Amino acid sequence: MSSKDIHDMQDPRHQFYDGKYEKQQQEAPGLQSDMAPVPDSGEKSYKGCNRLAGRKALVTGGDSGIGRAAAIAYAREGADIALNYLPEEQSDAEEVARLVEAEGRNIVLLPGDLSDEEFCKNLIHDALEKLGGLDILALVAGKQVATEDIQDITTEQLVKTFEVNVFSLFWIAKAVLPHLKPGASIITCSSIQAYQPGKNLIDYASTKAAIIAFSRALAKQVASKGIRVNVVAPGPVWTPLQVTGGQLQEHLPEFGQKTPLERAGQPVELSGLYVFLASQESSFITAEVFGVTGGMHLA
Ligand code: NAD
Ligand code: MG
Repeated sequence: MSSKDIHDMQDPRHQFYDGKYEKQQQEAPGLQSDMAPVPDSGEKSYKGCNRLAGRKALVTGGDSGIGRAAAIAYAREGADIALNYLPEEQSDAEEVARLVEAEGRNIVLLPGDLSDEEFCKNLIHDALEKLGGLDILALVAGKQVATEDIQDITTEQLVKTFEVNVFSLFWIAKAVLPHLKPGASIITCSSIQAYQPGKNLIDYASTKAAIIAFSRALAKQVASKGIRVNVVAPGPVWTPLQVTGGQLQEHLPEFGQKTPLERAGQPVELSGLYVFLASQESSFITAEVFGVTGGMHLA
């Protein structure tokens, strides 16, 4: 692992942790602070340059992992943040709040369960009221439970995975669209699993494919309002999702090592893309999917 600044030219294979991971298990949704090594969401390294000055962003799953990286980067680019996460993740969310406030930006903490339609409506209502509007939605929250045999995917797990990963996007989009202005940007989170579905992730991979269809169709519907919708599709990234049942324990040590870059990604390696898609720099980009996969590439 390199000791250089993230902006220094260097070998990407060794820029972040490139060793094996120890087996570790937490109950979902888990805490980033309890992981070893602790994922890098850009807490110390992400530098902003005012690319989102004055914007107001809702980030779901913003307490940890990729959502945390987006929230930190948005704040350092000048945005105020509404952060959604589950109540059990309060301590991770408070760490994010301290980092956002250190940038002189506002943050409102809005914990709650996205599998509940009423909560999704209230989330948008509260974010709009407390931030005074919304310009960016980074919808990052997701549920992933590795299950070896389809016979063991309970209807409860199946429904919950679709509610969190797919239905919440419908509920949030319906609630927020009447309030978005031209220039607003919605960013959803799919996965390499939509393109190369693993045999242990049938339910999860199905939701991640659905997210792409949802996002592209919505992008076409709202283009006439000047609103853009794009998708980020990560490959293996070291986050709580993986140590809370997202991967089988026996797969954790080698996590990410089969990518061409021979390591898992860190959440901060998605920060720049989340900022780009939220900002006006991506003004001609909508209905697209962006892979951040260490070389596993989408389709
Ligand atoms: P993470 O555990 O840090 O983030 C997932 C978040 O989802 C949690 O922090 C939690 O706040 C939220 N969440 C889960 N269930 C919820 C519910 N019912 N209500 C509200 N929030 C809920 O892990 P991450 O890897 O950063 O995950 C972020 C996104 O990235 C997910 O959509 C995931 O599918 C996607 N993704 C991750 C990887 C990877 O390798 N880590 C790869 C591809 C896609
Ligand atoms: Mg979390």
